[in-house]
Amino acid sequence: MLPKNAAEISNGDVYLQQIRCGKPNCKCVRGELHTAYYFFTRVNGKLTKTYIRKSQRLAIMGIAFEAKEEKTLSEISKIN
Ligand SMILES: [Zn+2]
Repeated sequence: MLPKNAAEISNGDVYLQQIRCGKPNCKCVRGELHTAYYFFTRVNGKLTKTYIRKSQRLAIMGIAFEAKEEKTLSEISKIN
């Protein structure tokens, strides 16, 4: 499941992967792979990945960025 806000991202992140779609006549068969965004996270200790649709990409990346900033801030406050 995709996160709706920064609090819902626990050890998760957004990754770009290159994939083959499986269509026999597609350009990806010749090595021009498609790019797809996935959200990786751990659910009960198991790594899961969720495909991010184009329409969701900006929202999810924004949330992931926000979550990372919060993590960095809390690590800094731990040091101090
Ligand atoms: Zn393809």
